Amino acid sequence: MITQAQVRVQPAGWQQELAQGIADPLELLRLLDLAPRMLAEHVLIDTPFATKVPRAFAARMRRGDPGDPLLRQVLPIAAETRAAPGYVADPVGDLAAEAVPGVLHKYEARALLIATGACAVHCRYCFRRQFPYAGSHAARDRWAAALDYLRGDGSIREVILSGGDPLTLGDARLAELVQALEDIRHLQRLRLHTRLPIVLPTRVDDRLLGWLARSRLQKVVVVHANHPNEIDDRVVEAVRRLAGVGVTLLNQAVLLAGVNDEVGALCGLSEALFAAGVLPYYLHLLDPVIGASHFDVPRSRALQIMGELRASLPGYLVPRMVRELAGSRAKVPAELLSGPDVHGGFGS
Ligand SMILES: *Cc1c(COP(=O)(O)O)cnc(C)c1O
Ligand code: SF4
Repeated sequence: MITQAQVRVQPAGWQQELAQGIADPLELLRLLDLAPRMLAEHVLIDTPFATKVPRAFAARMRRGDPGDPLLRQVLPIAAETRAAPGYVADPVGDLAAEAVPGVLHKYEARALLIATGACAVHCRYCFRRQFPYAGSHAARDRWAAALDYLRGDGSIREVILSGGDPLTLGDARLAELVQALEDIRHLQRLRLHTRLPIVLPTRVDDRLLGWLARSRLQKVVVVHANHPNEIDDRVVEAVRRLAGVGVTLLNQAVLLAGVNDEVGALCGLSEALFAAGVLPYYLHLLDPVIGASHFDVPRSRALQIMGELRASLPGYLVPRMVRELAGSRAKVPAELLSGPDVHGGFGS
């Protein structure tokens, strides 16, 4: 049993860990006993989308393996600077979907609130890597406009806190925001899209669990892991604690060349997630964002992988393979996509 006094004196250790993330790709390589010349491609030292890797995540990478699937997700390499036709700055039409600054209202009954532009990790494939956050997240002084919008549309039943990563915000601010959401009677569900329980599991602390447990809203947390090596004991403990306060746990992944584009890795991911109490939800096809073309998996190969997954796993462990299309009323199942074999879409 944890007393209130204990909760109060406990320092938010995760904030320190967040600040101490690895920002220098050469340091990351050194920690892994790798030299830049051991990699097939040049490592980028200065990139507009900076290197950012929590140490807890780096600790799960294999030492001495330049092809490690976790390393590949976060290490900036020269391929990012290669021009690729069809790769654009805003592949999913987010800017056009902005209802008020910081609120994306694309789909019926759900609205997405960009609570912050910050993330604990910088994923090189991220479709928001080019997103002009500075002007368009619902910073504290602008939550008023976002809340007004949500209050004024009775068709919205679910609010999705996204970003960036909403859990990079402190608990006082989050609790304040969530309390304001609870006061909006037509809202039933609160969904968080976050990578923190995976990349920085200490984020799931008593303060976070406290306001989640108290909320009248039904709670869904969609975490984001792409490879079974991301799920270690501390991650399992973090997601179990979330489940313990009544949170439904789902995972979204992105199909990434050289990371998880084979059946073994994806079956292992589904099994590891389920063992931790998390159900696979989406497996996104890559969004064609500038700088991410080296992660592309051709759609024919993606569909082949899905067929193999269906044949290997119980139905409830098969994620839905989808792409996000600008202007569409929902994410589109990969099987329904038509046209040439081009890149396919993602969200957290
Ligand atoms: C992905 C997404 C959602 C949620 O879609 P679900 O299919 O309910 O998971 C909502 N709003 C936006 C803008 C999204 O990109
Ligand atoms: S929004 Fe999600 S996928 Fe993108 S960099 Fe942040 S944590 Fe990674």
